Amino acid sequence: MIELRNVSKWYGSFQVLTDCSTSIQKGEVVVICGPSGSGKSTLIKTINALEPFQQGEIIVDGVHLHDPKTNLPQLRARVGMVFQHFELFPHLNVQENLTLAQMKVLGRTADEANAHGLKYLDRVGLLAQKDKFPGQLSGGQQQRVAIARALSMDPIVMLFDEPTSALDPEMVGEVLDVMVKLAQEGMTMCCVTHEMGFARKVSHRVIFMDQGRIVEDCSKAEFFDRPEERSPRAKEFLSKIL
Ligand code: ATP
Ligand code: MG
Repeated sequence: MIELRNVSKWYGSFQVLTDCSTSIQKGEVVVICGPSGSGKSTLIKTINALEPFQQGEIIVDGVHLHDPKTNLPQLRARVGMVFQHFELFPHLNVQENLTLAQMKVLGRTADEANAHGLKYLDRVGLLAQKDKFPGQLSGGQQQRVAIARALSMDPIVMLFDEPTSALDPEMVGEVLDVMVKLAQEGMTMCCVTHEMGFARKVSHRVIFMDQGRIVEDCSKAEFFDRPEERSPRAKEFLSKIL
C-alpha cells in the first residue's frame, strides 16, 4: 500500500531524513515514535507529499510520488491526514468543514457531501454539533470533527501526527477511542504518537526514529516485550515512557 525506499531529505544543508525505508500493508496499523526532532512529522508529511524529498522513492497505492507526472492534489485527496492542531476552518461550521473538500476536490454534490459527512460525524458521536463553529467545541470534539472530515474523503490510508498531544488529558480518551475503533475496523493507519496504550492495543508494528533514521521497525511484540533486543536509543526511550 505504502512503500518508502531509501528516502532522504534535507532542509538546506541539514539532513532531516536519512535513508528511510519501510512499507505499510493494507489494513496495517503502524505507530511511529521517537524523541522530539527525530523527523517523525517530516516523514509522515512526505507520505502525503506535503514535503518534498530529494532522494529515494515513495509509492502510495501504486502512485510514484517522485514522478513529476504524478497529480499530487489527487493523491492527497486519497490520503487522510489529522494533525496535532485540528486545523478546522474557523469561519465554517462543522457541517461546512465536513463537506467543503468533498465538493471541491471530489466533485460531490452538496447533498452527497452532506450525507457522507454527517454519517462520519455520527460515527464520532458529534451529529448534534453539526451547526456549531469550531471555536464553540472542546479540543477533543474539534479533533473528532477533524477525523470525521478526513474520513469523509474515503481515504485509502489515514495518517495521524500526534493527534492527542495538544489536548487536555480528559479529552485524550475520546479521540483515542475513535482511533481504536477505526483500527479495529481495518483502516490502514500510520500514527505518530506517544500513546503507548494505543500502540499496545491496536498497532501491528512500531517504528522508532532517531536523528532522521528509522532505528527500529518491528512488530509490537518485539518492541514492547523484548526491549533488551532493541537499540540503545530505543531502550532509553522505552525506559522513559513505559
Ligand atoms: P516532535 O516530536 O517535536 O514533533 P519530530 O520528530 O516530528 O519532532 P520534525 O518536526 O520532523 O521532528 O523535525 C525534524 C528536524 O527537522 C528537527 O530538527 C527540526 O528542527 C527540523 N525541521 C523541521 N521543519 C523544518 C523546516 N521547515 N526547516 C528547517 N528545519 C526543519
Ligand atoms: Mg512532530
